[in-house]
Amino acid sequence: MNKQTIRDIQWQGKRALVRVDFNVPLDKTGVIGDDTRIRAALPTIRYLLENGASVVLMSHLGRPKKKVVEELRLRPVAERLFELLPEATEVRKTEVTTGAAAEAAVADLKPGQVLLLENTRFDPREESNDPKMAQELAKLGDVYVNDAFGTAHRAHASTEGVAQHLPAVAGFLMEAELNALYGALNDPQRPFVTIIGGAKISDKIKVIENLLSRVNALLIGGGMANTFLLAQGYNLGDSLIEPDSVDVARSLIEKAKAANVNLMLPTDAVIADAFSADAQTQTVAVDAVSAGWRVLDIGPATVAAYSAVIKDAKTVIWNGPMGVFEMEPFAVGTRAVAQALADASAQGAVTVIGGGDSVAAVEQAGLSDKMSHISTGGGASLELLEGRELPGVVALNDK
Ligand code: ADP
Ligand code: MG
Repeated sequence: MNKQTIRDIQWQGKRALVRVDFNVPLDKTGVIGDDTRIRAALPTIRYLLENGASVVLMSHLGRPKKKVVEELRLRPVAERLFELLPEATEVRKTEVTTGAAAEAAVADLKPGQVLLLENTRFDPREESNDPKMAQELAKLGDVYVNDAFGTAHRAHASTEGVAQHLPAVAGFLMEAELNALYGALNDPQRPFVTIIGGAKISDKIKVIENLLSRVNALLIGGGMANTFLLAQGYNLGDSLIEPDSVDVARSLIEKAKAANVNLMLPTDAVIADAFSADAQTQTVAVDAVSAGWRVLDIGPATVAAYSAVIKDAKTVIWNGPMGVFEMEPFAVGTRAVAQALADASAQGAVTVIGGGDSVAAVEQAGLSDKMSHISTGGGASLELLEGRELPGVVALNDK
């Protein structure tokens, strides 16, 4: 990675202003469901405290739509953080994000202490990347640290603007994400295989285009495979298809041929007579989908063919489930692909999972700890795979 990290800064007596992604699920009573995102930021916070800094944290939570929403205050997050971080002398919480009260709270802060600012998206200037807000944020620290990979694709005041006013470096989570994703993408051990799935081809066209010049094999699954199959003349019954993308699918197939990429499509499928967990199901070849039926998972022959390619790979990136994995009868293909990645990992391959639903599917399969890297940023990893620069990363100081 060509960006400076927290290791490049002398922290003693400095105030670190750290953008984290504490966008955790909260229920109506303010209880945190899954605290993975808070835990993911701990290595960076610990390092800063151990090296003599005081730490000022900022994060968004939910979608408050540019105003204060009481249920989206970060207080429960501050409380959980203090439980997870007993070595912090104190974890304080402000009711504001910037301004005089925030500056006073920060001025009081001693090395070893942590302060969590209020939800950045309460301020209407956050998402418009208002330079005034960025300047106000910059007053709250000596050095800016971005550890929020999940929002790095957004140019907001707390992710991009503020970095223009302070020395700006990556935290450990950001560094790990960039090393894993760019490492696999730009410097892969071969064979390099990617698996792309999910509901819609239109969401992933740019990803496929970017990958075609890099990979050895591209395995297509999920709802988007239907549009590719339609482009090849198959009848898909009542499956999810995107008629507007048939031409694009056809041209991607041609580009893959020209680039010598092994683009694989499903040869069989699990079909259902309704979009429902208790629908009637059948396993059929992709040329045998009748009207009234829809493709909701890849079939066993496809699983076997994809698994064989994955098991020989040295680098694998996976984005997008193979079927409607939220419903048990259509989770088999996704789970089998997850298992093939786990097996490839065990053979020494680098395996990287990006995409919110793919990550959820791997967790559901209980295979998370078998993968080389599970991305914490669905949207950010997608944009990175599209070959786009992430504004929150670009803004950091070069090595
Ligand atoms: P990710 O979040 O990993 O990038 P996407 O959001 O692109 O993945 O796609 C995930 C969604 O795709 C899931 O909700 C899943 O149910 C849906 N999906 C997968 N296969 C099909 C299919 N054959 N028909 C309809 N929806 C599908
Ligand atoms: Mg998704």
